Amino acid sequence: MWEYKEGDFIKDLSNENIIHIKKDNVEYLQFKKLNKYSDILTHCFTLRELDFKGFNDYKENKDFITENYNKICNALDLKYEYICRPNQTHTKNVKCVYEGDEGIYLDKFKNVDALVTNKKNKALVLAFADCMPLVFFDPIKKVIANTHSGWRGTLKRISEETVKCMIKEYNSNPENIICLIGPTIRKCHFEVDKDVKDLFYNEFKNLENIDNYITKQNEKEKYNIDAVQINKQMLLDLGLKQKNIIDSKICTVCNKDKIHSYRADKENSGRNIMLICLK
Ligand SMILES: [Zn+2]
Repeated sequence: MWEYKEGDFIKDLSNENIIHIKKDNVEYLQFKKLNKYSDILTHCFTLRELDFKGFNDYKENKDFITENYNKICNALDLKYEYICRPNQTHTKNVKCVYEGDEGIYLDKFKNVDALVTNKKNKALVLAFADCMPLVFFDPIKKVIANTHSGWRGTLKRISEETVKCMIKEYNSNPENIICLIGPTIRKCHFEVDKDVKDLFYNEFKNLENIDNYITKQNEKEKYNIDAVQINKQMLLDLGLKQKNIIDSKICTVCNKDKIHSYRADKENSGRNIMLICLK
């Protein structure tokens, strides 16, 4: 938890599902639910103090980014060499991570937006600025996954693809899978025009309660979409249990002073990472 110093500007994002940690001069969020399994895994969602940048800014900022990876790895007691970071491009592509797959932007992880593994010491890392991070854990088969689901990924149902991969490749039973939804742009700030609204409506019109998740603003041709609820409903339909879907309930735009947000910072936006690693 925070170490309070007089005069510090303090904002603590902890809530019933989330713990906000400040350790070794690094701040990050963890899910209380996953911390119950801290003997076999570790995880975090980083905050604005650290910036991991997007693929296009990697070469110019490699030293700075590597230093940030080292800071968070030290805080979590992981090695930098464990990191597996794909080049995310809003696809529905899910890849399994095996021995030797560690590295940043390896060619074999080009255009990949979800990673799944049952191997130890593979830190599955994805970067976010408003897009939705979903991490998955099957405590029976000891399988983890990390998924990047922005609005395009949600339309392509990448969270569903991730669970299907866990079932097919690792024999997971969806009833056992725990899903944790990280900070993301929420319905309060996810405002779209009619064209994007139509894409969502056409894809998800058969989803239960869809009319509560896509709503029109008064007197304006603008719509607000609850992509978190849409993902939750997709996962329930696949057989996950309601009690096993844990939401951080944090909006990145509402908390832009603590979290990188693309809507708030536009093309200069930094990137937060979600990391999960079996140990
Ligand atoms: Zn908001």
